[in-house]
Amino acid sequence: MLALGGRPSGDEPPARRTRAQGDAVHIPLVTRHLSLITAADTLLNLAIFMGILGLSAVLTELFTRKMYYRCRQCGTLNAKRRTQCRSCGQVLP
Ligand SMILES: [Zn+2]
Repeated sequence: MLALGGRPSGDEPPARRTRAQGDAVHIPLVTRHLSLITAADTLLNLAIFMGILGLSAVLTELFTRKMYYRCRQCGTLNAKRRTQCRSCGQVLP
């Protein structure tokens, strides 16, 4: 009977498996819910993503114009302290 007394602890893992199966039952419901969301939200997320991308591009361009000269001849960025392009030697404004 003592040997059997040790078995109830061995019965606990099956109980956990039952809970795991219960979680597995809920997954399809979540998946169905997500599939309903995706159509509209994917477009919204895409719009937000493009907005952030565009905004960062604008900010980078503003920073670049403030900190550097762009050579008219070759397009190389030069620090404002320079008087000539570091790539082609063109005189900078
Ligand atoms: Zn240049």
